[in-house]
Amino acid sequence: MSLPLIDLRSDTVTRPTPAMLDAMFRASVGDDVYDEDPTVRALEEEAASRFGLEAGLFCPSGTMTNQIAIKAHTEPLSEVVCEQTSHIYLWEVGGIAFHSGASVALLPGNRGRLTAEQVEAAIRPVNIHYPTTSLISLENTHNRGGGSCYELSEIESIAEVAQRHNIPLHLDGARVFNALVATGQSAKEYGRLFDTISVCLSKGLGAPVGSVLLGSKQFIQKTKRIRKVMGGGMRQAGYIAAAGLYALENNVERLADDHARAQRLGATLATQPYVATVLPVETNLVIFKLEDSMPAEQFLAKLEEQGIKASSFGPQMIRFVTHLDVDDAMIERIEAALTDLQG
Ligand SMILES: *Cc1c(COP(=O)(O)O)cnc(C)c1O
Repeated sequence: MSLPLIDLRSDTVTRPTPAMLDAMFRASVGDDVYDEDPTVRALEEEAASRFGLEAGLFCPSGTMTNQIAIKAHTEPLSEVVCEQTSHIYLWEVGGIAFHSGASVALLPGNRGRLTAEQVEAAIRPVNIHYPTTSLISLENTHNRGGGSCYELSEIESIAEVAQRHNIPLHLDGARVFNALVATGQSAKEYGRLFDTISVCLSKGLGAPVGSVLLGSKQFIQKTKRIRKVMGGGMRQAGYIAAAGLYALENNVERLADDHARAQRLGATLATQPYVATVLPVETNLVIFKLEDSMPAEQFLAKLEEQGIKASSFGPQMIRFVTHLDVDDAMIERIEAALTDLQG
């Protein structure tokens, strides 16, 4: 009997469990474009209330929730302050220019994290030559930064800068629950500091599809038309919202297991002669650099032979992601495969 495939490429690869599928199957639904789907409403309310925010908007993807938020916060000839390797800039197909006609002020972060000083220095003075700074966006955990987490005090300082300049603060919280579980910070605190938060249900939380955008009632009302023009108005979406609700109820605390498994992999990698560096492991992402003597394609091909999939993340860089469908037995198989590669 062949061993199950281990997929470390992303935490988006998880399949719904029988219990999640059962919750989906039993969902009561209606037409959500008419605001008549009780399960979508329940998910939006539940997600918003966890963060102490007023309202939520269920969307097909995190790219859509981020881009809708950016469009609703900004106008053409304005500028978004963000980190240079942030998902909203690097991995959303240039959507800020396309959807919002806005510019970006790209800042170099410390593994993706910005400081209040950097953010304040990037805010444009009023001048006919400049775009106006219309939004500050943070990412937590930071993907490119290897799942790094902000200190709460730094977020507070950045929020203070944002408030003083009267500029809204958005969080790309695709993996915000990983950050909350890893640091012990509170969701309600985030709701006080950020004007809007985008949360992915389809990553570590294990739902097959969906993200929610959270904010004030008035803001979310405005975003409904933007979701519609992007083609994101869904009908009996309660069937997929039910998976998101199930994920919020059952799959948040267990993220700590993914973090512990990522730690284990990070420690094993650090002792391998063909590994040059491993970024500090804070959550469920393990990013490392291979020595030149071990070409990345060769490394990935060897793992693939053992039924392990991972992805390259830049020259000689590899990313491993732990998630709901990676258990301790699989971690042992990965460790054995990594040790074998020395030979
Ligand atoms: C995955 C991700 C998103 C959203 O991605 P979708 O695939 O569109 O859901 C946004 N931000 C970050 C940091 C992500 O990792």
